[in-house]
Amino acid sequence: MRVIVIGSGIAGLTAAIALRKVGVEVAVYERAPELREVGAGISLWANALRALDHIGAGESVRAVSLKLTRSEMRGKSGRSVLISLDARAMEARAGMPELVRMAHRAELVGALAAHLPASVARYGHECVSVEADGAAARVRFANGHTASADAVIGADGIRSVVRTAILGASEPRYSGYTCWRGVCPRPASVEAGYIGEWWGRGLRFGITTLPNDRIYWFAVQNAPPNGRTADERGHLLAAFAGWPDPVRELIESTADVLRNDIIDRPPVREWSKGRLCVIGDAAHPMTPNLGQGGCTAIEDGVILARHLARAADVPAALTAFARERYKRTAGIVNESWRLGAVAQWEGRVSCALRDRLMWLAGKVMGAGAILKHAKFDTGPLG
Ligand SMILES: Cc1cc2nc3c(=O)[nH]c(=O)nc-3n(C[C@H](O)[C@H](O)[C@H](O)COP(=O)(O)OP(=O)(O)OC[C@H]3O[C@@H](n4cnc5c(N)ncnc54)[C@H](O)[C@@H]3O)c2cc1C
Repeated sequence: MRVIVIGSGIAGLTAAIALRKVGVEVAVYERAPELREVGAGISLWANALRALDHIGAGESVRAVSLKLTRSEMRGKSGRSVLISLDARAMEARAGMPELVRMAHRAELVGALAAHLPASVARYGHECVSVEADGAAARVRFANGHTASADAVIGADGIRSVVRTAILGASEPRYSGYTCWRGVCPRPASVEAGYIGEWWGRGLRFGITTLPNDRIYWFAVQNAPPNGRTADERGHLLAAFAGWPDPVRELIESTADVLRNDIIDRPPVREWSKGRLCVIGDAAHPMTPNLGQGGCTAIEDGVILARHLARAADVPAALTAFARERYKRTAGIVNESWRLGAVAQWEGRVSCALRDRLMWLAGKVMGAGAILKHAKFDTGPLG
């Protein structure tokens, strides 16, 4: 069987590795001129690490990531700890060797790409259309190249061309908040392995530690869509004035600040049509509040390969894959959306109540809510 994957992000690379493991011939087409990933850090929960282990890529991803040891959620003043988690205690309770690791995105995609022979990925190929009939699926690229295969898998992100071919065109939905991200040196005041988040009113700031003494931070603010300022760093310093250390220091010591509106799409079941199918953000884009978008994209790759490995009928296998994945991913999309809405509340009274409830929930449920998604196991390839 021959499969074309559109997009060499986390979903496309994982699917390509997994498909090759089950004996499928794969070609990955990427519009960028070379392997590259903009973005800052990414959390890889146990569900993603386990899935990577099933395709033999776990150790190389561990080599470029850092294990969480301690996590805290605080109120804006920094004084009140709403939730405090000791990773070792949680891991012992859940019977898992590691709950979450943090990686730089560029290093993660580099580690994944190293599992593929150079001939698999073709850069500078922007897919402009896809179509399929009973015999084959065909792709046309902006550079005039065409290609055909038994199936085309769209791993081409939230504005996927393959998704449009399956479902028709539609705009993503804007959450009402925008995220700024950066990577900078780790100050001595932040221990390696720490993940922390401060919640204010319509504002959030989070930090995680990366390998090689770096910090990945993110700042979230309620804002109209498509906004831009001439000086994003200056904007953040003003928005987060008076927040506890090391917020100001981290923003000031960051060379490049990224800005993205947080968008997703309401879940849909139709991920496939005949020989076309979507995975990752092309299928189930989610807000990043649970840190599961990339993790579930990794799961998709493994489960897709399992379905195609034993496929006598390719369209039926893609339908079965989509059916299996819809329920899990739709639940996370919806939960993440709801969590983001509460996290971005602005009212003084509602935020005070929210923080109190978080503290109570932390005491009563511990890490149960977090562990729920991380416990998922795709199972082995075959
Ligand atoms: C602020 C923020 C923080 C996040 N934090 C986390 C986190 O901590 N943990 C986590 O698991 N997830 C996180 N996510 C979600 C995660 O980034 C995405 O779910 C993940 O990147 C999806 O991977 P993907 O491969 O499906 O799509 P993408 O990363 O969008 O990759 C798509 C690829 O396809 C290529 N492409 C697009 N169109 C075409 C075309 N027409 N032809 C050819 N190639 C094309 C693109 O160039 C790109 O390489 C976060 C997201 C955001 C916005």
